[in-house]
Amino acid sequence: MESETVVMYPSPEMGHLVSMVEFGKLIHTHHPSLSIVILITLAPSKTGSTSTGKYINTISGTIPSITFHHLPTIALPPELSSHEFVDLSFEIPQLYNPIVHDTLVAISDESTIKGVILDFFTNAAFQVSKTLDFPTYYFFTSGASGLCSLLYIPIIHTTTSGDINDLNFYFDIPGLPPMHASDMPTLLFDRESISYKNFINTTGNMAKSSGIIVNSFVGFEESAVETLRDGKCIPDRPTPPIYLIGPLIAGGNLVDSSENECLKWLNSQPSKSVVFLCFGSRGVFKKEQLKEIAIGLEKSGQRFLWVVRDPPPGHENESSSGSKEFDLEEFVARTVDKGMVMKNWAPQPAILGHDSVGGFVSHCGWNSVLEAVVAGVPMVAWPLYAEQKINKVLLVERMKVAVALRMSSEGFVTAEAVEEKVTELMKGEEGRVVRERILEMSRRAKAAVVDGGSSQVDLRKLTQSWNAT
Ligand code: UDP
Repeated sequence: MESETVVMYPSPEMGHLVSMVEFGKLIHTHHPSLSIVILITLAPSKTGSTSTGKYINTISGTIPSITFHHLPTIALPPELSSHEFVDLSFEIPQLYNPIVHDTLVAISDESTIKGVILDFFTNAAFQVSKTLDFPTYYFFTSGASGLCSLLYIPIIHTTTSGDINDLNFYFDIPGLPPMHASDMPTLLFDRESISYKNFINTTGNMAKSSGIIVNSFVGFEESAVETLRDGKCIPDRPTPPIYLIGPLIAGGNLVDSSENECLKWLNSQPSKSVVFLCFGSRGVFKKEQLKEIAIGLEKSGQRFLWVVRDPPPGHENESSSGSKEFDLEEFVARTVDKGMVMKNWAPQPAILGHDSVGGFVSHCGWNSVLEAVVAGVPMVAWPLYAEQKINKVLLVERMKVAVALRMSSEGFVTAEAVEEKVTELMKGEEGRVVRERILEMSRRAKAAVVDGGSSQVDLRKLTQSWNAT
């Protein structure tokens, strides 16, 4: 019998790559005879491939039937060198199309391709895969509610004009609570931008795909899932099958011994006493904002573990440490009895799973949300980019697993607001509600992935559809 393969084509940045690879691991666990080939391209950010390299090595070293196929590095045309991260995330896969075509043909000479799974950023390969007649799926790295809002973009496009950021009203998006225009992703604010056009194109292809796989679970987003499956988010054509197979999180694979310093520190802290602050793979603050966080944390009197990322080269605040406005090293020395600061990166899933952690100030990136839910750690929602403001509204108003932070329209947060919400989360009445509610969601998350759980059922439906072809 000829071997069978599933080809995955993630965006190579941490927040996108890890969950798709974890999905590959899940398929492998249930269908060890299927080979998984994961295509890796040049990363749109300068740090992308260095931060994922260790993770990729760990997986390839332990699961031989998952193969990482590193496509050759290509030179970016000079006109792209000044493009923003999100634009590049769409444009680089476009450049890779001829290579992806040849790679898929070569794989299919050796093995039957049961499915090609794309990220929305690797949407450029949709036409390639369809032309070669492979069943083509999308793996959506945010939740079902985020998917409702993404699939609704073409409707916003045709029913509004101009910059939606100027509109002072609430969108009535099927499956979501009323969403204020200012909470929509900033990417949608400029109709002429490269990413705007790419998102419109991607949603059209997603609607025509063989299925959309979502890293979430039904018990977390019931009404969004129901709305999607009722076809309300794609009114003009049948909605493809929607598979919720999560929560998929990286767990231990992101930890290495050099990072265990903070886990050791956590071992010496009381149960549920530490608030953890971490803002994803791209969250960077100006010094004035770092200063407010520091003052707020100190005044709250709570124990803390805070990850402070250095801005990328060329950023206006090139060093996040010592400056006239704020000296991070001095703050660290002053608060050594109460907290710890990690520079740039910390093993987040392991930290959230540590018994000493009782709260999480999060940028509401979807992987971070799922990791907090699985670990049962309530959140203070501090959205920064992408669809995170939508996630904040959902986490606070619908799922009730986070408290919201007061911020200015530019996203600035004062020390008082940090102090107030960190204290509320760890000790207050509003905090008590979210502390209880997240434990319920954590129970549901675990129930979804055991035998007979909703995510297992959806995974079986997906793989059965492969067997049928
Ligand atoms: N992450 C981590 N340590 C850090 C920052 C991030 O382990 O210091 C991991 C985090 O656990 C999550 C991923 O990087 O798995 C970030 O994904 P998310 O969707 O939360 O945010 P993004 O980086 O895509 O904005």
